[in-house]
Amino acid sequence: MTVPHLPTSLRAFLFADPAAHSLSPRMHGAAFANAGITGTYEARRVSAPELPAAVAGLRAPDVLGANLSLPHKEAALPLLDTLSDAARAIGAVNTIVNRGGQLHGDNTDAPGLLAALHDAGLPAFLPGGPVVILGAGGAARAAAFVALSDLGGAAWIVNRTLGRAQALADEFRALGEVRAAPADLAPWESAPLVINASSAGLNDPGQTPLDEAFLARLPAGALVYDMVYKPAETRLMCEARARGLTAENGLSMLAHQARLAFTAWTGADVPAQVFLDALAAPQERG
Ligand code: NAP
Repeated sequence: MTVPHLPTSLRAFLFADPAAHSLSPRMHGAAFANAGITGTYEARRVSAPELPAAVAGLRAPDVLGANLSLPHKEAALPLLDTLSDAARAIGAVNTIVNRGGQLHGDNTDAPGLLAALHDAGLPAFLPGGPVVILGAGGAARAAAFVALSDLGGAAWIVNRTLGRAQALADEFRALGEVRAAPADLAPWESAPLVINASSAGLNDPGQTPLDEAFLARLPAGALVYDMVYKPAETRLMCEARARGLTAENGLSMLAHQARLAFTAWTGADVPAQVFLDALAAPQERG
């Protein structure tokens, strides 16, 4: 009788450029330990021309899959065998799952964001209220998907470059009511939720995507969710809290998207707190 070869150690990757400062290896290392699975997660710097070969390598039997980050989330789509509905609608893949040599593309940013919004406490007056999304890049696409498909509200896309916001709105119109607008025309007075999906404020505590005057127009109880998590308290969050609003950073989304990817690879249901604790642990040096 021949015994099939079973890999004793499993591998997962992040493909990104740059990749060195990713927090994902910490989270997935902790998840492997928690789940009692012998596995490794390696953040690999992969340039755009290197992506097809890197993705092809994921078909190996000991590979669980990979996460994708900038600049690969859209470029990977044609390299995969199947796509989830969310990945297809959003037009971006952040998680590839190796299903016995067939590569399945998924997007855990969107359900990760949804879980993070629930953790933050979605305002009770959310249903039907407009969700204002700042930014029009990949993260804004996931936010628009959540606003339209999961929260059932109208989505307003506010972006520095209005033409990009317009293009995103045109693309997502089939999912629900979505509009692009300059900030001064967005429905602040009735918005229960503002999501910063722009990179304004990233690594710059002095920068904000939104003039404080617009925050002042939000209703009491509104939630401001900033996908940025470096710094942990952004200027947008500080200004929102100073006005009595609830504000959260993007660490919870980062943890939830990782949790969902880990489950897709292994079937293990590791608690979100394991991922959050790994993010909070002091970073190793060297
Ligand atoms: P992206 O595709 O490069 O898009 C960046 C967006 O930010 C664009 O709409 C851009 O506007 C806007 N922007 C950049 N600098 C700005 C400024 N100074 N003022 C106003 N708008 C500005 O990036 P992405 O992948 O969507 O990521 C956006 C942010 O979300 C990043 O900070 C990323 O770290 C974060 N993110 C977090 C998570 C998480 O798990 N927490 C997941 C995904 C992304 P223009 O169109 O005018 O250039």
